[in-house]
Amino acid sequence: MRFYVPEWDDYVDAEYDFIHDEHSSLDPSERTLAYIWDIFDHETTPIDGVLISREQVEDTPSKFARITEHGVYEAPVLDIPDWLPTISDCGAWGYKSLPFPPYGNEGMLEFYEKLDVTVGVTIDHLVLGSGHTARLYLDERAFPDDFSKSDIPEEISEQVDVMVEEWPAEWPEYVRGYAPSIYGSDGIETFDPDIFQQSLSTLLSDLEAHPHAIYRDDDMAFRYDLTLSNAREMKDLYDAGDYSFRLMVAIQGWDARSYADATERVLELGYQYLGVGGVAGSPESAVKDYVRAIGNSIKDFERATTTRIDTHVFGFAKTGAFDTIGKSGMTSFDSASMLRAAWTGGDNYHLDSDQRYDAIRVRYPSNRDTLQKAVETALRSQEMLYALRAFDADESISAALTEWHRSASATVDDLEPYLRDHRHDNRYDCSTLRPIKQALRDDYRYGHKIRANFSGKFRGQLAKLLRKDGPDDPIPFAEYRQLIGNVRAVFDDWTPTKAREIEQREKRSGQYGTLDQLWVLISDYTAYTEDEGHRDAYEELLRREPWNDCDCPICDEHGIEVAIFRGNNRNRRRGFHNTRRFYDEFERALPSIAILTRGGTGLSTTDSVERFLHEDRAGFWSEVHDLPVAEIGAVTANGVHEWWDSSPGTISFEPLSIQETLETFSRRYQELFIDGSNWRPDDELIATVRAAGCDVTVIEEPKELRTAVLGRLGYEPDFVPEPLLQSGLMEY
Ligand SMILES: [Zn+2]
Repeated sequence: MRFYVPEWDDYVDAEYDFIHDEHSSLDPSERTLAYIWDIFDHETTPIDGVLISREQVEDTPSKFARITEHGVYEAPVLDIPDWLPTISDCGAWGYKSLPFPPYGNEGMLEFYEKLDVTVGVTIDHLVLGSGHTARLYLDERAFPDDFSKSDIPEEISEQVDVMVEEWPAEWPEYVRGYAPSIYGSDGIETFDPDIFQQSLSTLLSDLEAHPHAIYRDDDMAFRYDLTLSNAREMKDLYDAGDYSFRLMVAIQGWDARSYADATERVLELGYQYLGVGGVAGSPESAVKDYVRAIGNSIKDFERATTTRIDTHVFGFAKTGAFDTIGKSGMTSFDSASMLRAAWTGGDNYHLDSDQRYDAIRVRYPSNRDTLQKAVETALRSQEMLYALRAFDADESISAALTEWHRSASATVDDLEPYLRDHRHDNRYDCSTLRPIKQALRDDYRYGHKIRANFSGKFRGQLAKLLRKDGPDDPIPFAEYRQLIGNVRAVFDDWTPTKAREIEQREKRSGQYGTLDQLWVLISDYTAYTEDEGHRDAYEELLRREPWNDCDCPICDEHGIEVAIFRGNNRNRRRGFHNTRRFYDEFERALPSIAILTRGGTGLSTTDSVERFLHEDRAGFWSEVHDLPVAEIGAVTANGVHEWWDSSPGTISFEPLSIQETLETFSRRYQELFIDGSNWRPDDELIATVRAAGCDVTVIEEPKELRTAVLGRLGYEPDFVPEPLLQSGLMEY
């Protein structure tokens, strides 16, 4: 069972400076980006694969150009390590309001090949089962000025789903067959707004041949059928070509029956890897029903043909559904919800699905703030950060605040003399602001403290003065003095907030860094930022200090910073941490199990691993081919060859190399079952695998091996998914 994460530019600055709250470089191209697989190592990375959607990649044209040139496994874009498999799909959610997917089958196959992904997915179109099934699609580009979707009368939108979206400039070739009226039109033919004031039937007949409108009576059925016809066409193209990725078929549906029917139809086409689309956002109970129905169809097929089918569930990872996912024989799923939960609301620091806490919001000034307000907000945020770190370290909070105040004072005191001496330095002779800010940060002794303490706005205004100022055409120094004066107006009389009261509490108790002391500042700060409503949640977080209970490398290295809600570098790291915690829960419910047989000479003479298993390991294969959760393959000195893989060209059985292969492989597994009917691994190999943290069992009799795997999972011998009738939700 594999867990994938969708890739949406989820990276952080590897060298982010938490103390000064700044990026390693102000120039984004100079930063070292760290993705989740860079932060964790091979053994602990909490994902088993990455999902890359074309729709998302195309959002950034430069990313599209670079990723199609270099692929996903090479720098400079994602640089995913070789051991992580990748799936790429179209990203149907992104074009759900278009009448057709904006891609053609051939173009998608080419795209996958260029990306060099492990798996490419056929083109689906979300069935969107709620609301009307009659839909009217309108190209937003053909709307007259001052006309928008809200100007379409309710009488129309109540009778038909109106889907307004900017259509692509050019439709792929296949659209010609379905809708010649919209294919290949030159220029834009604007809608006459008056036509929307007519009855629906008159409107539809007026729009019938319009190049920017499409109407369908039963759009759900159309999308369902289009998804299946793409499956058929893409399989033919794929089989006729020589592609290096594995093809997955995407299916759509609106209830268990329609999903099961789609499953049966694509299995007849010869697909061995299914992707269940359109379930993201559906209620958990509904998804469980779909998955059971699909699982039933697949199990029947697998047993009738002694084959194996892999199934991926797109965009769904509920811990409450693990049991159904496992027993239904699903092989992988993906979700970014635990990652994104880190910054999309409360309950954003997770220990597991039940223990969730609210990270403390330490706010940046807003762009709309006046300079003085921005300075005040920046100063208060630094106080809060210094206090939180002292709390985490059980050190004196009042001393931390005093120390912070001293360094902020030095920053502003030394600034004027520095500028007098250096404002005409060559380093400030730039036409853009970023290199000036960077030079100030690097050259001025307290340069790193300007933005954190006195706001980005202040540093930006300083940089503007430096840009304007030159040795040949100097500006009056009074302009600097005036700007610094604005900061002094806020800071000169500043005493660290509540430091005295905190100090008294420290003296009274003889303890440092307690919640009681920190709370004095939290109360004051949350009143300032109007976050009083979060106080109870913050108290729970600070009493529990959950980051001390997490041994992930992020909490280990950054401690309380991970529990602070502030900017991408803290928030996304917290998302990576959440993903790790989710993965722990996933591994407990659905352990990572591999079932391996040793390859034989027959492996090099057949075209696929599956055929070898069928022919040379028939007894073993017939007992394990339909087992859920586990991954199945053949091992040689060249690596572990998964059941669906093509045969390796050359093979060797050199014992030491097999041992090394398994040592690396088993680091990411909890349990390894070895088919002992053809192979008796020596004690050293067994010890090596165990030392890698993986249990290993060698079983000679295939029937016993089957029983042992099911026993490990806690599943009944006839583990088929529960019949749908029992769920009471549908006739089946
Ligand atoms: Zn952690």
